[in-house]
Amino acid sequence: MAEPTELLALARTFGDSVLERWERLVSLETPSADPGRAAVFGKDLAAGLAATADRIGHPSGPGGDHLVAYWNGRGTPDDGPGTGHTLLVAHSDTVFEAGTIARRPFTLAKDGDTVTGPGVFDMKGSLVAVELAMDLLSRTGAAPRRPVRLVVVNDEEIGSPDGSRLVARHAEGAHAVLGLEPPLPGGALKIGRRGVARVRLSVRGVGAHAGLDAALGVSAIDELVDQLASLRATAASLPDAALNVGTITGGTRANVVADHAEAEIGLRYATPETEQALLGALLTPTPVRERAVLSARTLSHRPAWAMDPANPLAAELVALAGTWGLKLPLGSSGGAGDTNLTGALGIPTVDGLGPAGAGAHGEDEHASLSSLLERAALIAAFLESH
Ligand SMILES: [Zn+2]
Repeated sequence: MAEPTELLALARTFGDSVLERWERLVSLETPSADPGRAAVFGKDLAAGLAATADRIGHPSGPGGDHLVAYWNGRGTPDDGPGTGHTLLVAHSDTVFEAGTIARRPFTLAKDGDTVTGPGVFDMKGSLVAVELAMDLLSRTGAAPRRPVRLVVVNDEEIGSPDGSRLVARHAEGAHAVLGLEPPLPGGALKIGRRGVARVRLSVRGVGAHAGLDAALGVSAIDELVDQLASLRATAASLPDAALNVGTITGGTRANVVADHAEAEIGLRYATPETEQALLGALLTPTPVRERAVLSARTLSHRPAWAMDPANPLAAELVALAGTWGLKLPLGSSGGAGDTNLTGALGIPTVDGLGPAGAGAHGEDEHASLSSLLERAALIAAFLESH
């Protein structure tokens, strides 16, 4: 057994080695879908986790893109067989291209707490926190109650086109899921996340001379505009729906009736009901013009994880932090991630367990060392008792 207070006190003695490790992981740059760099990073991370780890290659790369690490659970007399594992969900990729580190190296500010550099907050700090959490347990002679799996995907920042399959596979039979994404402002945990989808809507019309034979033509652009207007009305009528037409292309010239047009559309939705209504309208469109042909293709999709204020995992985490006198706020996120999948499946899920900070994806990205140490202790205490 390790008491939460003991874990926190111990975590706070590891500031220097955490900074060293954090710098190392940030310096090993990992832009999304760069198999070579991901393989180097995966090898280093697997060593740091001190666990059985599989590195799983992306079909299009030389391998080593994603990583799954395993720890045994100690079990308790109350736990029958098949009581499920605890799944930790993380990603190793960042939105920054290789070479950013030369311009913006890992730096500790004068306050001795604020760390800056590409990916410190989203989410290299989270990976360091997991390494420390496992180390804290073994140093105190403790062990996770349930078996633990950590899935680290390398394509989260581009919508997890490949990694989400890995998350889904390891979510099967999971008892609880902790997401290691950065928290909301102030360190608040996420107990719901809006879903997001990208859809390409294509229209085929009939080309014709715009002056002489206009009646023979069917304008793909006119049809697309009407479709988008009707979609906008649908989105406006639904609660918690957002629609953004990101690109429009089509046609050739002003004196030709356009025979093709297409748009790439981004959708966001907070509940499964809104998701269904919005995607249903977009994926099965009815043409306004008889001879226009519409087709819609889903480019990426993350389901809505609707917020449940009575989330039992969140209550456990809040209680653990409470033993340290720390208040842990809860909220819901406007952005989507890999835990949308587990939350939407109804598996108890909490995200935002990474260290506090701000500025994800931007030049002023920063995170807090003291928060990282607390998060590591929190993760350790949760795995020990849950
Ligand atoms: Zn992230």
